Amino acid sequence: MSKIGFIGLGNMGLPMAINLKKAGHDVQGFDTVPDQIEKAKAEGIAIAASAADAARGAEIIVTMLPNGAIVSAVYAQIVPVATRGALLIDSSTIDVSTAKSLHGQASTAGLLSLDAPVSGGIGGAAAGTLTFMCGGSREAFEKAGPALDVMGGKIILCGEGGAGQAAKICNNMLLSISMIGACEAFALAEKLGLSAQAAFDVMSTSSGSCWPVNVYCPVPGVGPKSPADNDYKPGFAAELMLKDASLAQQAATEVGQATPMGQYAATLYQHFLANGGAGKDFSGIIEYLKRAQRGNV
Ligand code: NAD
Repeated sequence: MSKIGFIGLGNMGLPMAINLKKAGHDVQGFDTVPDQIEKAKAEGIAIAASAADAARGAEIIVTMLPNGAIVSAVYAQIVPVATRGALLIDSSTIDVSTAKSLHGQASTAGLLSLDAPVSGGIGGAAAGTLTFMCGGSREAFEKAGPALDVMGGKIILCGEGGAGQAAKICNNMLLSISMIGACEAFALAEKLGLSAQAAFDVMSTSSGSCWPVNVYCPVPGVGPKSPADNDYKPGFAAELMLKDASLAQQAATEVGQATPMGQYAATLYQHFLANGGAGKDFSGIIEYLKRAQRGNV
């Protein structure tokens, strides 16, 4: 069993840290928000006085933080104090270039590192069934294995440092586009007088079938249960979709790749959030699209 520092005990980080503790690891947590610290203490997680204290003496240090700027600020505190040979796992979703720069800092300090963003949401975090998309050396990946196995169901080494973040934003850019496509198809079907059930029965078994239609249908009452059946409560919040879609656009700009559909999907999520989408699941964009006037979005 390993000594693990866990920094960022939020919606995702806390259940992940709880699973590590339950598996017998010695977990030292840290968060800046008193409420989160209290929740973690109530779950029996030991709390360090600072990020640096959580990292000191740990064999593995996991970060699960809101964005790249915060992860960079935390790395500035933990990299200098971490034990040589320790492994840093950043599971936050951040931009690819910051992820690569953090790998460089870790390597210079004699530390192993892995970018390991996740999919599966808070349900997957609680159940220990997250998918981890990893970037880093084979040595770092193998050292991370026992800890990632406790928190995840599927663990994929995608390539060198930054490859995990690259995989995550490519997948989520595609998801943003395919969800909007599914919403447009259901909205048009309704205006054409087609029942949602008939549209679902055809599209889920024809060439239009895709995850947003078949698994996470944006229309209530058809297909497997989804946030549409719960007034579009997240699920996967529209804010997080916009974050990932924007990270994909940042990366596309940096490498000069045209992604017109991805760019437009990010813009539509901005409009949705400015027009009633705050706090809603990302599939709720169907309501915005149904309200929008043709030629006006
Ligand atoms: P969250 O806001 O609930 O948790 C982040 C935590 O980090 C908070 O508790 C916050 O207090 C803490 N924090 C902020 N600055 C800190 C600092 N300097 N030192 C220590 N702690 C600090 O967010 P979340 O939903 O847990 O998401 C975490 C990451 O996982 C994000 O990058 C997000 O994009 C990604 N993610 C989230 C989901 C999801 O469904 N929530 C799914 C996949 C990926």
